[in-house]
Amino acid sequence: MLVNTKKVLEDAQRGKYAVAAFNVYNLETVQAAIRVAEKVNQPVIIALGERYFGEVDVEGFSAMVHAIAAKAAVPVSLHLDHAYEKKSIIRAIRCGFTSVMYDGSKFDLEHNIRNTKDIVDIAHMAGVSVEAEIGSVARGAFSDEDEGDGTLTDPQSAEYFVKETGIDFLAAAIGTVHGLYHGEPHIDLSLLEKIRASVQVPLVLHGGSGTPDEMITQAIKLGICKINVNTEISMAAVTHLQTHIRRYSDAKAHLSTIMSDMQISMEPVMTKFVRLLANKTN
Ligand SMILES: [Zn+2]
Repeated sequence: MLVNTKKVLEDAQRGKYAVAAFNVYNLETVQAAIRVAEKVNQPVIIALGERYFGEVDVEGFSAMVHAIAAKAAVPVSLHLDHAYEKKSIIRAIRCGFTSVMYDGSKFDLEHNIRNTKDIVDIAHMAGVSVEAEIGSVARGAFSDEDEGDGTLTDPQSAEYFVKETGIDFLAAAIGTVHGLYHGEPHIDLSLLEKIRASVQVPLVLHGGSGTPDEMITQAIKLGICKINVNTEISMAAVTHLQTHIRRYSDAKAHLSTIMSDMQISMEPVMTKFVRLLANKTN
C-alpha cells in the first residue's frame, strides 16, 4: 500500500532500522524495488529525482507507482528527490508524491530556511512530508548528481534549521558522497551523534552507494532512518547490459526479454541494501 513517507520513517525511527530509498527511472526499476521489498518484508521508498523530469512523464510515473503500490504487501512511499525548483515540487504534490525533498543546500542558512519554509507550508497543506538538507554531499565517481562542496552539517545549525522550517526529515552531510568514493570514505559518525542529539526528526543519509556495510550499520544505530541509493543500482543494470551486449546483438533478441533481464540484474544489489538497512544480514 502507498504510505506517507513520514509514517514510514517514524516507524523506522521507533524500530531502529532504516528504509532504502531507491532512485528509479522507469517501470523496471520500480518493479525491482517493490519486488525486493516484498521478499524481505520491509517498506521501500521509490525516489524520482527532479533531474529526470525531462525524460520521465511525471504524472504517468506517479500513476504507475500508485497502481503497483496499491497491490504491494509492504508499505511503499513515493518521494521527489533533490528538487531545486518550486514548480517541480508543486507538480509532484499535485500528482500524488507522498514526500518531497527541497534542496536549498547551495544557499546560505537563512536563505535556505526561507525557501524551505515556503515549501513546507505548501506541502503540509497537501499532507505531503518534506525533506531538506543543510551541509552538502560531495560528488564521487559515476554519480548522476550535481557537484556539492562537501561541507558537513553543523549540529547547532541543524537544530535551528529544523525548528525554523518545520521539516519532517533532515538530510545530514557527514562525509558520504553521491556515487562511489574516490579512495577511503571519511564518514564522521561522532558528528552524526551530535546531530542526532540536536534534532528530533528522522535523519536521512544520501550517498549509500559504496559506503561500507559496517558504517551503514553504525549510522543506523546513531539514528539514520532513510538511506538513498542510486549509483549501485544503475551500475548493476549497466554492467548487465554491457556483459550481455553480444547476446542482445542477436537479430532474434526481443526488447521485452532484455528489459526483464535488466530488472532481475538490479535485484541482488537492492536486496543487499534492504536487508542491511533492516538489520537482516544473518
Ligand atoms: Zn542525494
